[in-house]
Amino acid sequence: MAKSGALAWIDEHGKGIVDISDRIWEYAELGFEEVRSAELLAAELERHGFSVERGVAGMPTAFVASWGRGGPVVGVMGEYDALMGVSQGKTPRKAPIVEGGTGHGCGHNIHGASGMAGAIAARYAAERNGLRGIIRFYGCPAEESGSGKVWMVRAGVFDGVEAVLSHHPGAMNYGPLGSSLANNSVKFHFHGKTSHAAGSPEQGRSALDAVELMNIGVNYLREHVVQDARMHYVIEAGGGQPNVVPDYARSWYLIRAPERDQVDGIYARVLKVAEGAALMTETRLEVEFLKAVYNKLPSKALSDLVTANMRLIGAPKWTEEELAFAEELSKNVPPEQVRDALRKSKRPGWERLEGVVMDASVPDAWDEGEVSHGSTDVSDVSWKAPTMEFYTATWPLGTPGHSWMNVAASGTGIGHRSLIFASKVIAASLIDLLTEPGLLRKAWEEQNRRTMGKTYRSPLPADAKPPLTMWGKS
Ligand SMILES: [Zn+2]
Repeated sequence: MAKSGALAWIDEHGKGIVDISDRIWEYAELGFEEVRSAELLAAELERHGFSVERGVAGMPTAFVASWGRGGPVVGVMGEYDALMGVSQGKTPRKAPIVEGGTGHGCGHNIHGASGMAGAIAARYAAERNGLRGIIRFYGCPAEESGSGKVWMVRAGVFDGVEAVLSHHPGAMNYGPLGSSLANNSVKFHFHGKTSHAAGSPEQGRSALDAVELMNIGVNYLREHVVQDARMHYVIEAGGGQPNVVPDYARSWYLIRAPERDQVDGIYARVLKVAEGAALMTETRLEVEFLKAVYNKLPSKALSDLVTANMRLIGAPKWTEEELAFAEELSKNVPPEQVRDALRKSKRPGWERLEGVVMDASVPDAWDEGEVSHGSTDVSDVSWKAPTMEFYTATWPLGTPGHSWMNVAASGTGIGHRSLIFASKVIAASLIDLLTEPGLLRKAWEEQNRRTMGKTYRSPLPADAKPPLTMWGKS
């Protein structure tokens, strides 16, 4: 009864929900600069009776919206940051709106709007049916670049929440159970002494030498870390011209591993390598710790819940026109690349999906125990409470993540259907969590089993602050 009411609310307000997603798609604001996107969502939640706290955890574009009283506290997360360099119009051929401009290549315009709509629909259904409980929407900034949620977790805004849902656009409809890698993001600054590189090289202490020797040390260390660890770097500053010994050089590292304590261990060794490089070159090392995340603990109980609701609601059916658009988009990706992406998904029977452009099926999650080698700030939330970020089919199978193709699909008909479908799955799942206490019990039994013996401690140094000015502006 409450559930059908929530679904009906979304059907009635579908046009408005799509409009909000499309406006965020057009704003395409980068992490921590999502001022208009965050305000659009916050104001809409406020208009529907949520009380909103803006600027939480020291981030102007982070907010928490709450509605209800008594009963369980259930949460939904929404993201709204865009990516650099993937600007694209609503066409299936590459056509940037602004050359080199920003775009929603990860579909976060839908991410924010589906969570918002699901929370509002659930709130009205809860009210009409006299359900007790608190529904929270978490406005989470800068997923792509600043790991907004880790700072929110540290500030305590997820304390007391009993289950957290989140939706991400994808190529398939499912509630993934794969884990992700914990990581540290750190910059190494080396300070040396300049001199004429030919006339008086003996006077110089090269900061670039230190960066290079550190990289060599880390490349040897690679052989002596766990198999799934990842260490990668760029040299951000390496001097001005070859006839001047560089007195300053800087590298930026990401260090990843399947478990948080493995990252801590590898990082301690990387620090020794950096110190060794400074010692060898008589330069001074300065370490700038940017951010860090945990590995993800996806909730099987919540995966089962969203999967059941996806089946109950029914995956979207696309029009001929929408499928033709998807077909055109998919022509930009060579078939062997699609095959590689499908194989890498390890989905049983992936071979049968070759040649399929849009996947309308709703499979059970198949990836429990698998580790994906990326990292996400959803992970830190997953250590606070049972968490599930589920996918709905928004992009043609095999299109690369963070691509202009995904920008085009996220702002047009296929994206709109995915948005409405996901909004309904969120609303229905929130209602289930409020009305069936056994669900939360089961989710917490699983959570306690998986975190047994390990307590979450923020991986961020106590004095670290959100990197709000990362794009060089304030
Ligand atoms: Zn994303």
